[in-house]
Amino acid sequence: MDNQRIAIYVRVSTDMQGDESIENQIERCKQYLQFKGFNSDTAEVISDIASGADDGRKGLSQLMEKINNKEIDVLIVTELSRLSRKIKTLINIIETVKSNDVVIIAVIQNIDTATPMGKAMILMTGLFAELERDNLKQRVKNTLDTKARNGNHTGGVAPYGYDLINKELVPNPKKSEIVKKLFNDFILGVSLSDLSRNYDIRLTTVRRILASPTYIGTKVYGTRIVNNDGKVVYADPENIKYIPNAHLPIIDEEAFYTVQKMLNESVDKWHLRSKNKQKEYLLYGLIKCYNGHNMYGAETTNHYRYYRCGLHGKLVDQKFCPKKNILAAEIEKDVINDILNFDISKVDIEKGKKLKEIELKKYSDDLGIEQEKLKKITDLYVNDQLEKDDYLERKAVIDKKIKLLESKIIILNKNITEEENQRKSINSLKLVIEKLKTKPSFEKMQKYLHTIINKVQFINDFEYEIYFNI
Ligand SMILES: [Zn+2]
Repeated sequence: MDNQRIAIYVRVSTDMQGDESIENQIERCKQYLQFKGFNSDTAEVISDIASGADDGRKGLSQLMEKINNKEIDVLIVTELSRLSRKIKTLINIIETVKSNDVVIIAVIQNIDTATPMGKAMILMTGLFAELERDNLKQRVKNTLDTKARNGNHTGGVAPYGYDLINKELVPNPKKSEIVKKLFNDFILGVSLSDLSRNYDIRLTTVRRILASPTYIGTKVYGTRIVNNDGKVVYADPENIKYIPNAHLPIIDEEAFYTVQKMLNESVDKWHLRSKNKQKEYLLYGLIKCYNGHNMYGAETTNHYRYYRCGLHGKLVDQKFCPKKNILAAEIEKDVINDILNFDISKVDIEKGKKLKEIELKKYSDDLGIEQEKLKKITDLYVNDQLEKDDYLERKAVIDKKIKLLESKIIILNKNITEEENQRKSINSLKLVIEKLKTKPSFEKMQKYLHTIINKVQFINDFEYEIYFNI
């Protein structure tokens, strides 16, 4: 696929708020291209800084011209709304693209018109309805963002340790001292619950204070968003925005990042405590992000169930784990389907075992022959029919052969035993797959899956591999 002419189209709004940056969009498209086996180095990037409702975009015009001149084979965007937020314009663009046999890929929506499924998906009206909902969401978020960018504190109440004076955060002399003590005590090993008791601050608040970059002078906004139903919910950590040096810090960066490291180390322990909650998730403890971290079941306030990396949205070495959340219903359905469709007959260990047994018989026979030879020359030597030197020379050769055969037999026997165990676990895998087909209860289903799956390992944003307990 090296000779494909690829165009990456990226766009950010004029206010640059609520959008993934141009660099992120390019990176994400390139990753997807590499994932699909394209050469992403030769891809041409076409960009616009304009609203998605604005049809007179320079980049977009250039892109359409190239498509009409048949200079492009593949067009990739992070999501279709990059091309246009206006449904009518988007349909026109897609028509043009289709009539010129250009493949459209929308990474986030997982649309790839090179596949029949992608072709069908792009026609589905549901998608367009979704786009309109996105527009609505965007508007709400933009309003909040604009306020924040103008320097206004959007939350209404100042974070603990600060006062809101003329819409600016100013350290409160008394409370900022308590914040300093919280950080210092925590570094010295005082537990969160002891901190809560000692300073009479709720445990969740202590945790939030210790994890907040507000205290190093960074403005954080967008942690909560208004959803489609008008409810305030927690935002996806990736959409949270940070502006450094926005106000006076209370904590120095070294202390802050030390605390973040310590907090992250307790993430796994913390999740262990919420293990009962985890048991409500079919694949708890089995899913790993592509960085190898555990992914945990979680739920938003409006009951949107998903799995997220334990380190997603948490500062680790001043970085986030970028693995996206996975919709729980989707991954659970996919994994079950993968297992039900798993062609176990392809795992043929019987054949290998038979070959090894034939090999083993041959070595045993050879060993018998060598042992017989040794017996014969010993007889000859004892009966004075063979000189001592001659006997010792022949014996050394035979001994060497016997040793070699014996070690080969030991290794083969070990392999055959291992395969015997493997055969047993494949049989139990077969058994469990049969049981899964009978649509068991949630608890049983969970038990079966945990019996046969070792881990579900993500290898990139899009694909995972299931490792069985074989
Ligand atoms: Zn991770």
